[in-house]
Amino acid sequence: MQILPTVAELRAWSRTTQRSGATVGLVPTMGALHAGHLSLVRAALTQGDRVIVSIFVNPTQFGPNEDFARYPRTFDADCALLEAEGVEAVFAPAIEEMYPSGAATFVEVEGLSGRLDGQSRPGHFRGVATVVAKLFAATEPTRAYFGQKDAAQVAVLRHMVADLLLPVELFVCPIVREADGLAMSSRNRYLSATERADALALSRAIQAGQSAFAAGQRTTEAICAAARLELTRSSAVRVDYVALVDWTTLLPAEQARAGDLLAVAAWLGATRLIDNCILGD
Ligand code: AMP
Repeated sequence: MQILPTVAELRAWSRTTQRSGATVGLVPTMGALHAGHLSLVRAALTQGDRVIVSIFVNPTQFGPNEDFARYPRTFDADCALLEAEGVEAVFAPAIEEMYPSGAATFVEVEGLSGRLDGQSRPGHFRGVATVVAKLFAATEPTRAYFGQKDAAQVAVLRHMVADLLLPVELFVCPIVREADGLAMSSRNRYLSATERADALALSRAIQAGQSAFAAGQRTTEAICAAARLELTRSSAVRVDYVALVDWTTLLPAEQARAGDLLAVAAWLGATRLIDNCILGD
C-alpha cells in the first residue's frame, strides 16, 4: 500500500491507475478508522474500484471551540486496517498541502450549509464542502463513498457535485452500528463508561421515530416527540436537535413520508454525537 503525502503524488497515482483502464474509488476520512469506514472501502472494492483512502483531519470543518486538537490520530493502526482490506493507496497530506499559504477559496452550499449540524456548527459544512471539492480535484475519482451516518453532509455534497458539475458519482453506505445499536463514530472513544451507556439514547430515539412511522404515524411533531422522549430519559443527555426533514433540501418535512430523514444530535458531556435513519428503510 502506497502512502502519498502530496497532491502531485496523488494525482500521478490516480492518472496512472485510470490510464490502465481501472476506475478509482475515493473514501475520504479523518482517520481513527473503525468498521464504518471499512464498510465504505468494501463498497468501493465491490464496485471494482481501485481504492484510495484519504486521511486528513480537516481544520476548516472544526469550530474554534471544537475538538480539532484532540481529535484521535491513529495513523499506523489505520494503515494496517486499510492494507488488510486491499486498499492500494492512502493520501495523507499535511495541512499546508491542502491549504497552501494564502488559500482564500471556499465552497459554500448556500441554504443547506446552515441546516441541521450546520446550524449547531457554523462553518462546518463550508469546511466539509471545501475539503471534499479539493479532494475531488486532486484525485479525479470515478466514484466517492460516504456514510449515511453523516446524512446532512451527504445532502450538502450531493448538491455541491450537481452545482459544480463535478464528474464523480457519490455512493452512500448504510450506518454501521455496535452490537447494542450505537452508531460507530471516531468520537465514541471520548465517552466514559457511563456516557457510553447513556449514548444508547440516540439509537433508541431513532428507533422510536422509525417505529412510530412504521405504525402509521405521519405527523412530523409526533415522530419527533417519540424520538425526543427517548433522548430525554437520561438527564445526562443534552439534546442538540431532533429533526424530520426532506433529505435533499434538509428543510422540515410537513408530513412524514418514506425517504425523509429523521436525524438527532446530542451531547454526552463534552462529546457531541449524531444518528439518523431514513423513514421506511
Ligand atoms: P469521518 O472520518 O468521521 O470524517 O468519516 C469518514 C466517512 O465515514 C464519512 O463519509 C462518514 O459518514 C463515514 N462513516 C463514519 N461513521 C460511519 C458509520 N458508523 N457507518 C457508516 N459510515 C460511517
